[in-house]
Amino acid sequence: MALQQTLVLIKPDGVARGLTGEITKRFERIGLKIVALKLVRVNMDHAKQHYTEDITERHGEKVRDNLLNFITEGPVVAMILEGVDAIANVRKIVGSTESKSASPGTIRGDFSHVSYSHADEKEIPVKNVIHASADETDAKNETALWFSIDEICDYKRTDECHVF
Ligand code: ATP
Ligand code: MG
Repeated sequence: MALQQTLVLIKPDGVARGLTGEITKRFERIGLKIVALKLVRVNMDHAKQHYTEDITERHGEKVRDNLLNFITEGPVVAMILEGVDAIANVRKIVGSTESKSASPGTIRGDFSHVSYSHADEKEIPVKNVIHASADETDAKNETALWFSIDEICDYKRTDECHVF
């Protein structure tokens, strides 16, 4: 059983729009377990450790700068979710990066709609509500960046016998 932990951030747009409960519910109802959760105001140093130079390599300096300003402008909800193939399962529920292309039924498809070209014209990141770790390496680094070991809780959900 490939039990994994992955990091989810409800970005400042999602928190400000009051979507925390709606989003969290979608993960809980498929049986993913919340093993850590907090509301955080992100400082620039922490933001730079999350959105590393890798973003510059993939999307350019401008997109990274816009992302850093965006993620520090209001509180974010950070959580670690645990489950079988949690990384891929969470990305499936989150949907495509560009809101315009994200399918209905996904979090990004249901709660955002704009295109890269619109975001780039306004010099903002695509406000796609949520971040989720992309792969095992990111999940390992990001869970460690956002949570200390003693903030992660080991417990049983009462429905585990039906889920696993
Ligand atoms: P995230 O890392 O936020 O979960 P992702 O893994 O789907 O999203 P990345 O390629 O890591 O996508 O991009 C990080 C974030 O940068 C995206 O969520 C989006 O907000 C923003 N972004 C990426 N490309 C662009 C672009 N061309 N224009 C505007 N914003 C962009
Ligand atoms: Mg990413």
